[in-house]
Amino acid sequence: MPTAAARRAVPEIAVPARLAFERVSLSFAAHAAVNDVSILVNAGEILCLLGPSGCGKTTLLRIAAGIETQDSGRVVIDGEEVAGATRTLPPEARGVGLVFQDYALFPHLTILDNVRFGLRGRPAAEAARMARTALERVRLGHYAGHYPHHLSGGEQQRVALARALVPGPRVLLMDEPFSGLDRRLRDKVRDETIAVLGEAGITAVVVTHDPEEAMRIGDRIALMRKGRLVQLGAPEELYRHPVDIEAARFFSELNEVAGRVEGGLVASVLGRVPAPARLKDGDEVVVAARPHDMRLSSAGIGTPGRVVSRRYLGEVDRIEVAVAGLAAPLEVRSVEIGRFSVGDSLFIDVPPERLHIFPDGMPAGTTK
Ligand code: ATP
Repeated sequence: MPTAAARRAVPEIAVPARLAFERVSLSFAAHAAVNDVSILVNAGEILCLLGPSGCGKTTLLRIAAGIETQDSGRVVIDGEEVAGATRTLPPEARGVGLVFQDYALFPHLTILDNVRFGLRGRPAAEAARMARTALERVRLGHYAGHYPHHLSGGEQQRVALARALVPGPRVLLMDEPFSGLDRRLRDKVRDETIAVLGEAGITAVVVTHDPEEAMRIGDRIALMRKGRLVQLGAPEELYRHPVDIEAARFFSELNEVAGRVEGGLVASVLGRVPAPARLKDGDEVVVAARPHDMRLSSAGIGTPGRVVSRRYLGEVDRIEVAVAGLAAPLEVRSVEIGRFSVGDSLFIDVPPERLHIFPDGMPAGTTK
C-alpha cells in the first residue's frame, strides 16, 4: 500500500492530458516507419502500442517525445500542437516523461539525485523534497542514498519511473519498460507500475511487442503493422474481434481450416455457421479458432477426431487432435487436466461466436 506521503504526492502530478496523433507519417530513406497513423489517447488512459519488431511503435513514441520529427501530420497534447507543420516544441517543453527499457540511470549519482535530475532548475530543497516523495510513491524511499548498482533491475526501473513522474508530466511515454527484466520480476514490476500510474491518474503510452503484456496493462491497445495502425480498441475487442487473420494470429496460436460460403453459411470441418454479411456464396474463407476456445467431449457434438498427443502445461493440457480431411492436427487447450489421453476418440465443438472467419488466403499456423 502507498504511504500517506506517497498519496499526498499526487497533486504534484499535472492534470492528465489527451494526446492525439493526427495522420502522422515518418520515412527513413524510402522506408515508411510510421505511415498515416491517427490515435487519440484519452486523458488518464493507458494505451499500449503493440506490434512485431520494426512495425514503428518506437518511432511513433519518439515522435510524441520530440526525439524524432514527423514528415507530415501532427501531435497535439490537450489541444496544443507540440509537433506540426508550423511548430515543433523541443522535448523538454512538451510536458512528457520518458521511461526506457534500460532505465538509463546515472551510475555515479545516488538514487535520490537520479530522481532529482528530473527537476533541474528548481530550488534544491524543494527538488529534494519532491524527489523523496516520488521515491516513496514507488516504495523506494529507503534507497535514497544508495547507488543504482545496489538495486535490482526491477527497483532500478521503479527509480526510472519516479524520475519520469516527478516533474509532473502531462503524458508518460514508456518504451518496452519491462523487457529487460526476467519473467517473474517483470510481472511484479508491471503490476506495481500499473498501480503507480493508476494512483497518478496519468495518461500513458506504453510500447510493447508482447500481446499478453498489452492486455495486462492497456486500457486500449493500438495494434501496428508495417508502420500502420491496424486496429485500436479494448483488449477484449482485439482478442475477440480481430480485424484480420494476422491480427488474430498475433494474440495466440490459431487453428486455421479452409471454409466455403454455401447458402449463407460458412461450411468447414468445424461445422456450419452463419456467414458474415460481407461474404457471398462461393467465397473461399479461412475459419480460425483459438486453442482454448475449442471444447472437447466424449459425446457426439461437433467434429469427430482422435487424440494424437497430450502435454501437461500446468494450468491446461495441450492436446493435438487429428481430424479427417486435415493434413495437420488441431491444437486444443483444455482445462480438464488428464481427462483425455492419446488414442481417445472425441468431438471438438467451438461456439460459433468464437470462430473467426476471414475472406481469402490460405489457412496457416497450426493446421494447413
Ligand atoms: P522494435 O520493437 O524492434 O524496436 P518498433 O516497432 O519499435 O520495433 P521502430 O524502432 O519504430 O520499430 O522502427 C520502425 C522501422 O523504422 C524499422 O524498419 C527500423 O529499422 C526503421 N528505423 C527506425 N529508426 C530509424 C533510423 N533512425 N534510421 C533508419 N531507420 C530507422
